[in-house]
Amino acid sequence: METTTSLDGLACVDCDAVHDPADAPRRCPDCGGILRPTYDHGAVDVTRESLASERFDGVARFADLLPFPADSLVTLDEGTTPLVPCPAFADELGVGAVYVKDEGANPTGTTADRGAALAVTAAREHGAEKVALPTTGDAGQSVAAYAARAGLDSEAFVPTRSTFVAKAMTNVHGGDMSVVEGRYPDAVEAFESAMADDDNADWHSLAPFDTPYRHEGAKTLLFEVVEQLDWEVPDAVVHPTGHGHGVVGSHIAAEQLRESGLAEEAPALHVAQPEDCAPVVAADDAGEDDTEVWERPDTLVGALEVDDPEGGALALDAVRDTGGWAVGASDDDALEAAVTLNAEGVEVSATGGVGAAAAQELAEGGHLGSDDVVVLVNPVAGNKENDVLRSHLMRKGI
Ligand SMILES: [Zn+2]
Repeated sequence: METTTSLDGLACVDCDAVHDPADAPRRCPDCGGILRPTYDHGAVDVTRESLASERFDGVARFADLLPFPADSLVTLDEGTTPLVPCPAFADELGVGAVYVKDEGANPTGTTADRGAALAVTAAREHGAEKVALPTTGDAGQSVAAYAARAGLDSEAFVPTRSTFVAKAMTNVHGGDMSVVEGRYPDAVEAFESAMADDDNADWHSLAPFDTPYRHEGAKTLLFEVVEQLDWEVPDAVVHPTGHGHGVVGSHIAAEQLRESGLAEEAPALHVAQPEDCAPVVAADDAGEDDTEVWERPDTLVGALEVDDPEGGALALDAVRDTGGWAVGASDDDALEAAVTLNAEGVEVSATGGVGAAAAQELAEGGHLGSDDVVVLVNPVAGNKENDVLRSHLMRKGI
């Protein structure tokens, strides 16, 4: 398969073995650990100046820091999303500045597009004809779009509670869908049973952290943020977290920015979860190195209702390594915070509101400084979650 000159291979986060990408389409062949690309930064010369002369053409802009060259990427011009200042919310928090990194501006309205671009590229390079994944919804829509772009079939396993938009658009992109009665764990079970079926032996898994490339694609978010801030590294980045792609991606990005000499510091990476489905927060509070299954997930924020995060241990690493916190937010606080940012004109989703509410908690706890630059990631477009936002207003009698 065609890879960039800077790519060394795929390193296992558990046993440190390094594999040839051509031989490792999923997890570590030796131990089953999560794989992530590693690079030789001496092999390419990426500088602030060289990036300034690159076109704004999606994640391909950073191709020298990615596994696959620009001309082989399956791309829909994802990335280069807005970084919107929110001065009123900054005043409320008592910090220097707040920006929303609005991932709703991606092609299918979700930050998952960054990872889907790389993961579907890899699937095509592996000769796959069909990709499949379990999803709370948005990543299924995203993968359906990128698979369509690549000429591949796709199948998403989604729970019934997934948003109408995600389910409808998955089909509109020509993707197959299994709507599984129940919640997200039921969709995972249906996916695993389908993958184990001999009839489906040629399916290529794009399940969370099962492919090495979705967390890898997610790293481009922090590259952009730092460049958009004129190479000032923000003090804090708050990631609403389900499986952990976003926060793990930013951790990888911070390391790569340092190793390639593009930036010296790393932001504090904060995890935000709905308090009624908060396995990373619970593990952090208990001082554990990995997450445990959350027994009774129950949140209105369906995109984050992930009871058993595949990237849990890596998310905990990201938080602890950067001096961040893992914070739970009630559904009410999350929806109220989302509405507050919408009142400032920024179309933040309920999912994004979880991060905004967590930032309020961090500020109240004295964990944000009065000069701090704080970035709130809005992982999904507000208009994809319009029903839950509108219901919140109705409950308040508005
Ligand atoms: Zn391994």
